[in-house]
Amino acid sequence: MQLTRRRIRRPVALGAATTFALASLATASATLPDRTRVSAGSVAADDATDALGLAPCRIASTLGVQMSEGIPTGTGYTRSTGEVRALNLMVDFPDAPGEGPAMSRFAEFFPQTSDWFRTASYGRLTYRPETPLPDWLRMPMPFAAYGMERGSPYEPGYRRLVEDIVDAADSRVDFSAYDLVNILVTPNAGPSALDTVLSVTFSGNGEAPHADGVPLANTSFVYSRQDDGSGSYHETGYRVLPHENGHVFGLPDLYTTEGGGAVGHWDIMSEDWGANNDLLGWHKWKLGWLDNDQVRCASAPGSRIYSLTPLGTTGGTKLAFVPVDGESGYAVEVRTREGNDEAVCEPGVLIYRVQSDVDTGQGPITVADSDEDSGGCTRRPNVHAELSDAPFRPGESFADEEGGIRITVLSEEPDTGSYRIRITRS
Ligand SMILES: [Zn+2]
Repeated sequence: MQLTRRRIRRPVALGAATTFALASLATASATLPDRTRVSAGSVAADDATDALGLAPCRIASTLGVQMSEGIPTGTGYTRSTGEVRALNLMVDFPDAPGEGPAMSRFAEFFPQTSDWFRTASYGRLTYRPETPLPDWLRMPMPFAAYGMERGSPYEPGYRRLVEDIVDAADSRVDFSAYDLVNILVTPNAGPSALDTVLSVTFSGNGEAPHADGVPLANTSFVYSRQDDGSGSYHETGYRVLPHENGHVFGLPDLYTTEGGGAVGHWDIMSEDWGANNDLLGWHKWKLGWLDNDQVRCASAPGSRIYSLTPLGTTGGTKLAFVPVDGESGYAVEVRTREGNDEAVCEPGVLIYRVQSDVDTGQGPITVADSDEDSGGCTRRPNVHAELSDAPFRPGESFADEEGGIRITVLSEEPDTGSYRIRITRS
């Protein structure tokens, strides 16, 4: 899909049947309605008093959307602040026995995943990975018997697999002690990730099998190895797990059937292969990693000037939001090569449209490209090139003429790395 500089068009909505026919370099997600469990969720974004006037910017979740960008996040997902205990089980099969120690499979993802969350959350999420069973957990049936394919629904294969995992582990694992579950499947089960990515998360699923009195409602399954052959697997291969865990915290997929062209490498829910990347500021607010006083809401007519600090650093004002209607608006933030943002080649002000009524995998967020058809500034593998130079530089403006909205970058402060922006709306 081509974006015009003046106005971001809504992506073509896809029917539910095609939701899982996804690009080959991305991972699928699925979610089911929860009826049994109340999640603590993210509380910072959801403040009933609203002394800061943020209410018009908390675009609400829309009925009928499975995983919405709306605030607050629906119930049933894993709490995204404080200490979160992750149960890790390394699983193998009679026809695909684990090769080498199970703890080496675990070591493909840790400590990098915990470090990634600490950095992305500014220390607000303390991710504790635990391995009460340090050996491979053998399933009773061959891998093929579960019928796992890309986009497989929960029924019947995943229900059967989870039941078998609980049967095999329950005598030695207290499932009620954990906030989320990672099933790290032996890499020799199923296809190479280069052919098809099976990794998937079922989140907010109160109908999942129970163990120790709780449903396994938020469970990520990681298969194969996301190894692009560039020699960087030991540095970047873990990134599928923070992506999948993003779903257990309620975040939708930002890539579409057309790949990463909507958001590029600006969020791990868009691209989880290649160099490290961060989450969008909108997601950080949604997860409770930004305080309300780090967000500015440009809801009133007129002109306002804001100063934003880089998203990759701690503290300061991080996000400005311009609501368009009750279900969409423009988010504005500063992205630099700091924190988890390893691949930024043109720092500046990133502007994107958020739509809470567009579902996971169908383009709920669209980045505005300040320099269309430029080819981008990156040559790194698995980084969407065209949007890599999307940020706006001082002197450049974004305009939504129909919406009467103009966002101009005024200056960059060399001492602090902050950017001054002006938002005007009629
Ligand atoms: Zn996903």
